[in-house]
Amino acid sequence: MVPFLDLKAQYHSIKPEIDAAIARILESSQFVLGEAVASFERDFARYCSTEQAIAVNTGTSALHLSLLAAGIGAGDEVITTPFTFVATVAAILYTGARPVLADIDPKSFNLDPANIERAISPRTKAIIPVHLYGQPADMDPIMAIAKRHNLIVIEDACQAHGAEYKGRRVGGIGAMGCFSFYPGKNLGAYGEGGAVTTSNPEYARTIRMLRDWGAEKKYQHQLKGYNYRMEGFQGAILGVKMRYLEGWTEARRAHARRYHQLLAGGEVRTPAAMSAVRHVYHVYTVRSAERDELQQTLNAAGVQTGIHYPVPVHMQPAYSDLGYGPGDFPHAEAAAQEVLSLPIFPEMTEVQMLEVVAAVASRRLTSVAKL
Ligand SMILES: *Cc1c(COP(=O)(O)O)cnc(C)c1O
Repeated sequence: MVPFLDLKAQYHSIKPEIDAAIARILESSQFVLGEAVASFERDFARYCSTEQAIAVNTGTSALHLSLLAAGIGAGDEVITTPFTFVATVAAILYTGARPVLADIDPKSFNLDPANIERAISPRTKAIIPVHLYGQPADMDPIMAIAKRHNLIVIEDACQAHGAEYKGRRVGGIGAMGCFSFYPGKNLGAYGEGGAVTTSNPEYARTIRMLRDWGAEKKYQHQLKGYNYRMEGFQGAILGVKMRYLEGWTEARRAHARRYHQLLAGGEVRTPAAMSAVRHVYHVYTVRSAERDELQQTLNAAGVQTGIHYPVPVHMQPAYSDLGYGPGDFPHAEAAAQEVLSLPIFPEMTEVQMLEVVAAVASRRLTSVAKL
């Protein structure tokens, strides 16, 4: 059996420190925000090379508040990708703005800058590139387009903690970066969590207010805000896990290199790392024209896999009112049919990796046997 990820193995590798951090929260009784969260914010900002990080309760809230801090609302348009988790598009809708979608580059699975340019209208206010699977979007042309059209760039870095584009950490390239600490993300809480990174003091101040009912001083509400505060436990846990993030990221990258070697020339197309990026392999996603059969073969062999994502956002029933339909984003639609994410997690062993690769190779034997 090879699990898709193993959160329990990771907990056991750092159990004494985690247990002590949780005990400190219990003793301090700072259950919401508090010193552990503030300390994590400082560590995470340093990690992303930004002036500030503002901790919130989910990655979705991070996206929502970044858009609000950028002044986005009804009548505005925000450009993003259809090949993402629905939260990216949902957060735009929360503000009252209209999500405008642009197709991906099929090699990187990220927004193709040429398609962004075509989607710009006089109402466009912002672009949300998603660093999908842990690989940075092509930020230089995206920032150049934004500059030319006076648009704000908000990075959806929910899958890309520690990823780099031309030596710069994601989350610090656009005006704001949004991170999720959902348990399965590269830096995961033991519950929900998220953060916005920024070096703009005005955005940071607005987001700090909005996450806590729009108040800078208790019961003095300057803005109509939300309850998007991070819990003390999550701040304390993330503070411990931060110290291991670089090691875990390097382990993911080493596993990806090993997969590339072992799978080269075989049944599936391995993911392409673009030049000048540090891909952090939140997931290791291969492509196959016989994706569903491959997934069944792996499942029968006890190898857990995932599909990120089987239906692009514009083809989800809930988002049919965006006005798009089948055929509008051919690269995203083709990817949705063909992608399969193989197990990758820092604690993965060589034996587990060989088991996955053998199961992928057995698929070829099955198809040959059928001829
Ligand atoms: C996980 C994720 C989100 C949402 O984060 P939550 O913490 O689950 O709210 C947004 N965008 C992308 C690309 C994600 O992977």
